[in-house]
Amino acid sequence: MAEREQVSAPTTDTPEDPIPEMSAAEVTAQLRTVLDGRWAATRDVVRDQIQAAGLVPKSGVSIPDYRANMLDAMHAMIPLGFPADGFATTHGGTGDVGAAVTAIEELGYGDLSLMVKAGVQWGLFGGAVENLGTERHHEKYVRGLIDLDVLGCFAMTETGHGSNVQALETTATYLPESGEFEINSPTPSSRKDFIGGAAQHARYASVFAQLITAGPGEEPTGHGVHCFVVPIRDADGNDLPGVTTSDCGLKGGLPGVDNGRIVFDHVRIPREDLLNRYGDVAADGTYSSPIESLNRRFFTMLGTLIRGRVTVGAAAGAAGRLGLALAVKYALVRRQFAAPDSEEELVLLDYRTHQRRLLPLVARAYAFAVAQNEVVAELHELQSGDPADADPDEVRKLEVKAAAIKAGHTELASRAISEAREACGGAGYLDENRLPLLRGDIDVFTTFEGDNLILRQLVAKQLLTAYAGDISDLDAVGWIRFVASTVKDIALEKTAARQVVQTLLDDSDEDPENSDLTHPGTQLRLLRNREDHLLRTAANRMRRAQDDDADAQEVFTATQDHLIKVGDAHIERVVLESLVDVIGTVTDKQTRTLLKRVRDLFVYSLVEDDLGWYLMHRHVSVERAKAVRRGVNDLCGTLRPHAEQLVDAFGVPDVALDVPMIRHG
Ligand SMILES: Cc1cc2nc3c(=O)[nH]c(=O)nc-3n(C[C@H](O)[C@H](O)[C@H](O)COP(=O)(O)OP(=O)(O)OC[C@H]3O[C@@H](n4cnc5c(N)ncnc54)[C@H](O)[C@@H]3O)c2cc1C
Repeated sequence: MAEREQVSAPTTDTPEDPIPEMSAAEVTAQLRTVLDGRWAATRDVVRDQIQAAGLVPKSGVSIPDYRANMLDAMHAMIPLGFPADGFATTHGGTGDVGAAVTAIEELGYGDLSLMVKAGVQWGLFGGAVENLGTERHHEKYVRGLIDLDVLGCFAMTETGHGSNVQALETTATYLPESGEFEINSPTPSSRKDFIGGAAQHARYASVFAQLITAGPGEEPTGHGVHCFVVPIRDADGNDLPGVTTSDCGLKGGLPGVDNGRIVFDHVRIPREDLLNRYGDVAADGTYSSPIESLNRRFFTMLGTLIRGRVTVGAAAGAAGRLGLALAVKYALVRRQFAAPDSEEELVLLDYRTHQRRLLPLVARAYAFAVAQNEVVAELHELQSGDPADADPDEVRKLEVKAAAIKAGHTELASRAISEAREACGGAGYLDENRLPLLRGDIDVFTTFEGDNLILRQLVAKQLLTAYAGDISDLDAVGWIRFVASTVKDIALEKTAARQVVQTLLDDSDEDPENSDLTHPGTQLRLLRNREDHLLRTAANRMRRAQDDDADAQEVFTATQDHLIKVGDAHIERVVLESLVDVIGTVTDKQTRTLLKRVRDLFVYSLVEDDLGWYLMHRHVSVERAKAVRRGVNDLCGTLRPHAEQLVDAFGVPDVALDVPMIRHG
């Protein structure tokens, strides 16, 4: 028999088996090892830097000073080594992709302005050069961009198009007579917008534009979006001829990031500055690409840039954990109202409502942190090898997982920080206690590097077509017709990808009424069955698109809310599977027991949040629904004595938690 739970069912129906005694320091150290994962040493280097340099968000600093401070802080990171980690050894880096992502994640415990600026320079601009460029670009730019001699920005979004990158309007027209590309912004809506670094510091931009060229005797033809390295400023910071930059101005957060706009007026760059790994133009204007299909080429190029998306999810997770650590620590010192028979007021965390506000979010933070670590490790493996050797199926699966975890983790962070702010009452609203600044900074993480709704939709679309490779040529209408034609085959894979998950499923009782709710197999089954149900019913609704009189776009729009729910269900299921997997590797019994209770609270609170759906579709009975609700309460009580250890294990540097509301209570 596979792992049977040794400890408590948190419902009142079964006896409580207390978590064994252990010292707070031991608990913290063990849990931290689990959370820190493979790149623990990198995390420590960045934590030390945050601590030593006091890298925490500050209010009352002028925008110019804030921006300058962030650039200085980036310079101070070069000797730490991780800026070079994201680049291949043959290009002047160290080739440790996982360390590069983890280092920037860890900045989420410090200042998110710094995280974003560093992410733009080394992750996005650097990532475009590294992954879309070839030898000549690596030689020309990589060393300089690691050392900040080449300051860059990532100019994808336009005023008219953010989520729909394929519809960008900036053009890059090849001129065979001079051997140059002409970069142009033909319409007001083609202006590059929101670009981090474009307002002030960037000297170069990786510009995404529609490539237009003609071979000898051909008419000029568009070959889709490609990326070009375009110098935008001179050494003194002045716009180069034909380039007009401007500042996006005050924002809701991230004061240290100089977001700006760029307009190109027939700017010429050499042919060689097309990042030509996936598409090239010969001197005579002939276009060539190893990928024939325009759509597939586009998605392959974007796929190589998932590192940015992974990093944003990871850093948001760190910021969310920081918010929760601040709120839990405050709740352990702040007293309000005495019990009738007592002189002393209760600390906030002794109230069940307060436990319910914070502890389920702490449990989710654990679950997402380990799922995030897994995505980082998978990205590391994929990007450490030769891209030509990568299995396209594996690449597609990682893209979907990265989208899922980014959407789920940034959403959790936003929610956790908002809840943390409110849970700290008036003190939570003061800048000196960090939460309002953190809330302003985290807000946009649900939007950039892929709007979360679009990402959840992407996840659902891939599931509905079972990651079929041949759908990348289909537009929305073609896609829905494809789904409609395969609808009878659509279901979640019967066999779980992970052996440990399959064993637990096999070992658990299928009876939805009497199975043990604390058994991980039952928990996995609850989330898997919901996802499977949603997937099948979404596909069924799309079947209508096959009718002769059906408007496929209308069918798609009518089903969209259902698709988003498929995405959500998938995110929660894959996160639970990661957590179950990681708990299975923990050898220390006490740590494992505590993590199991964290897992229980994660699952119970997810089910409770969607209890309406579970009841409506008869995946739980009314009795079981009541047991879930009781279970959340009981688990909050069980974890309450461990709350401080749970958040200490996040490893937030002391300087980030050193705020007046916690210092003085
Ligand atoms: C602070 C900041 C920094 C940024 N940095 C950069 C950068 O460095 N480089 C860069 O290239 N970009 C950057 N961006 C741009 C960012 O990536 C885009 O804002 C993002 O991709 C969303 O695009 P959008 O703003 O055009 O929103 P839209 O795509 O217009 O979305 C607006 C709303 O409509 C919804 N929506 C869109 N399409 C659909 C649909 N099909 N169905 C249903 N709902 C839909 C979305 O969910 C969203 O709520 C930055 C943005 C900000 C705010």
